Amino acid sequence: MRNINSDDQGSASRSIEDIPIAHRDRFMPDVTTLTSLRRQRKTLTRGLYFSLGLALAAITLAIGTLLFRNPSNVTTQTVPVTNPSVIVGKPVDSLLGHLSYEEAPEKLLKSMEGGLKLRSTALPKFQAMITAAKAAGIKLKTISAFRSIADQEKIFFEIKAQRKQGAEKRAEVSAPPRHSEHHTGYAVDLGDANNSAMDLKPEFETTAAFKWLQANAARYSFELSFPQGNAQGVSYEPWHWRYVGDSDSLETFYRARNAQTANQPQS
Ligand SMILES: [Zn+2]
Repeated sequence: MRNINSDDQGSASRSIEDIPIAHRDRFMPDVTTLTSLRRQRKTLTRGLYFSLGLALAAITLAIGTLLFRNPSNVTTQTVPVTNPSVIVGKPVDSLLGHLSYEEAPEKLLKSMEGGLKLRSTALPKFQAMITAAKAAGIKLKTISAFRSIADQEKIFFEIKAQRKQGAEKRAEVSAPPRHSEHHTGYAVDLGDANNSAMDLKPEFETTAAFKWLQANAARYSFELSFPQGNAQGVSYEPWHWRYVGDSDSLETFYRARNAQTANQPQS
């Protein structure tokens, strides 16, 4: 009965029990050897895979090092030289001494007397200036205000052809298209209605209108764009005034000027 109960406990104990005691010692080492051999084979396989992995890593590292030493690769790593014409976001260039400007969008312009247009933000101050001048006995005349790039093309190329001027000569008195402050809608050309003979001439500086502007324009946030000996090298234009009374107009003109200064070769 004990033997049967013992049999019920499991086949593993039964298989050992089934071997006669005299044969057990001979049989047991064989099992141990087999297990040990299997373990050794497993360890060897693992070792082989590990060695292969190491070899692959070494080859990859060697190729990588060779690529890094390649001169063409070094060139790609070189830090590019910063383009000085791109200073603060948008590129600014100059042509024949004139800085480039974007054309003001139509929706930001407002019509005024004589079918002329100005930036709606600059117009109230401009009109206040005209009114104040009038009160002081000065009759300011607006000769030109906003100009499209197409308008400037006519002014630059047609008059250049009429006067048989070279591009450089023409640029001394007129900005090439895309390079006029008039594109911004912030600039105006002013004359003295009592002295039209001086319109758009350096002699405009002798008029009462110019003298009044010189003394009062800053009060309305207008300034002379091209005074005598200006850093930009543009001819003296006592008739050409621009609005710098808000951040947009200020950035438009001073950002462009700073970029040009940065572009000038250091001497
Ligand atoms: Zn002008």
